Amino acid sequence: MFGKNFQRKYALTEQGVRNTKKGAFWTVLVNLIVMSGVSILYLLMGRLMDTLTDGRRLPGAALFIGLVVLFTVLSFLTHLQQYRATYGLVYNEVRATRLNLAERLRKLPLGYFGKRDLADLTETIMGDVNRMEHVWSHVLGYLYGAYFSTALVAICLFAYDWRLTLACLWGVPAAFLLLFGSRKMTARSSERVKKAAVRVSDGIQEALENVREIRATNQEERYLDKLNQKIDEHERITIQGELGTGIFVNAASVIMRLGVATTILTGADLIAAGKIDFMLLFLFLMVITRIYAPFDQSLALIAELFVSQVSADRMTEIYDTPIAEGAERFSPRGHDIVFDQVSFAYDKKKVLEHVSFTAREGEVTALVGPSGSGKSTCARLSARLWDVSEGTIRVGGVDISTVDPEALLRDYSMVFQDVVLFDDTVMENIRLGKRGASDEEVYAAAKAANCDEFVRRLPQGYHTPIGENGAKLSGGERQRISIARALLKDAPIILLDEATASLDVENETKVQAALSRLLAGKTVLVIAHRMRTVAGADHIVVLDRGRVAEQGTPAELMRRNGLYRRMVDLQSQSAQWQLGGHS
Ligand code: ADP
Repeated sequence: MFGKNFQRKYALTEQGVRNTKKGAFWTVLVNLIVMSGVSILYLLMGRLMDTLTDGRRLPGAALFIGLVVLFTVLSFLTHLQQYRATYGLVYNEVRATRLNLAERLRKLPLGYFGKRDLADLTETIMGDVNRMEHVWSHVLGYLYGAYFSTALVAICLFAYDWRLTLACLWGVPAAFLLLFGSRKMTARSSERVKKAAVRVSDGIQEALENVREIRATNQEERYLDKLNQKIDEHERITIQGELGTGIFVNAASVIMRLGVATTILTGADLIAAGKIDFMLLFLFLMVITRIYAPFDQSLALIAELFVSQVSADRMTEIYDTPIAEGAERFSPRGHDIVFDQVSFAYDKKKVLEHVSFTAREGEVTALVGPSGSGKSTCARLSARLWDVSEGTIRVGGVDISTVDPEALLRDYSMVFQDVVLFDDTVMENIRLGKRGASDEEVYAAAKAANCDEFVRRLPQGYHTPIGENGAKLSGGERQRISIARALLKDAPIILLDEATASLDVENETKVQAALSRLLAGKTVLVIAHRMRTVAGADHIVVLDRGRVAEQGTPAELMRRNGLYRRMVDLQSQSAQWQLGGHS
């Protein structure tokens, strides 16, 4: 019962499972002791009845006082242990879980972070763990304890009288059925609450990020209105959800309590028929009130368990995503990149199928193909931003899935369209390519990347701060900074996403000149968008819907008259058409 599935289901650590078992154990003891407490009343009642019928005086006051003291002490001690086993240990569980999740996130393939929004991940580490904290401390131990103790008591009661037991306990499964029936609804409403919460935090984040623009354009009111709407919606959805849960929990509790009525009715019948005596009915009525108490609590707990299942699932999803690990040392022989029958799917949808090609060191290999054919995916896989689903990718003969991503990436420079620039000076932005590079090295790289000229024209030269994401620079300038960074890093493998943004002619020649310096002698994989640049590549891989349609040198492919030829013709036609009358 407390196996691997249990651990997964509630996203517990192994220690957490052990604690839950302890909690359940002590809860059983607490419940049993409290329930057997009613035996004192039973004895008392028995004596009273004797006195009433025989007119004897009530003896044994010392015995009763002794029993009361004994039960009080036992009850105190078991409660104390129960408390220790539940609340006391859960703080460690929360800490361990947050650390586990953070560690797990650190090792996830980088590509994962493109898929999941940061607000969502933060909400999981903080919010979901918080919600689970209550489940771990208050719910699991109590709930399973209640199951066990009720089962034990039910067995004892059956031994006394099965008819009364049924009359007394039928409400328990009925109440549970009702709650389980409402489970889907509860889970759905809790998912909606969480989504509304993410919308609110996204809204706040957005407002903070754009605070300058909002002020500058006098849009404060509009923004606040929008945010208010989101907050109201969150409130509305939360209230709706809690109302729904409340109704089901109360209905379940009422059904369970109908057991009192059926016990009295059945008991009366049985007494009338002379099958049981009054004292037995009295015993059942006493026990019943005790059995319902832990279950009343449990019904609310079960509802909470359903609500929190969404949180547990999100945590389990992170635990289940395969992590990227591998050897810290990466020592390839050369830097040829070999795709060997590579297939890949982001979720379910296959994006690449049996892709094989080799990008040789010292050559430019161009990936071409219609948009969505899988070019960027190939580039990401080659740097292990994701792991392949089938097949292998080898760099210099080493299967990259055996190499630690950080170690692997030391050999890569990525010059992508969406260059990430930091809100720091130009100098530091270039220096990111190589930690600890001297100023002279930075200048040299900047010169080679044709940055020097425009950087010197900036107000403070190399010490000019770049606005967030390089807002103060043009597209071509940003790209050249990223090239300078790559030149400084001087990694043997370059992944290049050719810009689609049209640069002016002067900028373009400068970028090209900078690139040709960067690319010399390296293994270069280009995601190409313009056929014109592709013509200069050494090897071309044409992708079509995730498969290699054809590959070869530009000249070979032109002769083959296939997809490549068609794409070249199409682009030169549209270029002529754009130039119109001038051509
Ligand atoms: P290309 O670079 O040739 O335009 P991509 O490699 O970007 O093609 O995309 C190939 C397919 O994979 C497309 O159908 C795209 O929708 C899908 N895709 C790309 N990135 C992701 C992602 N992070 N998650 C899910 N699907 C993706």
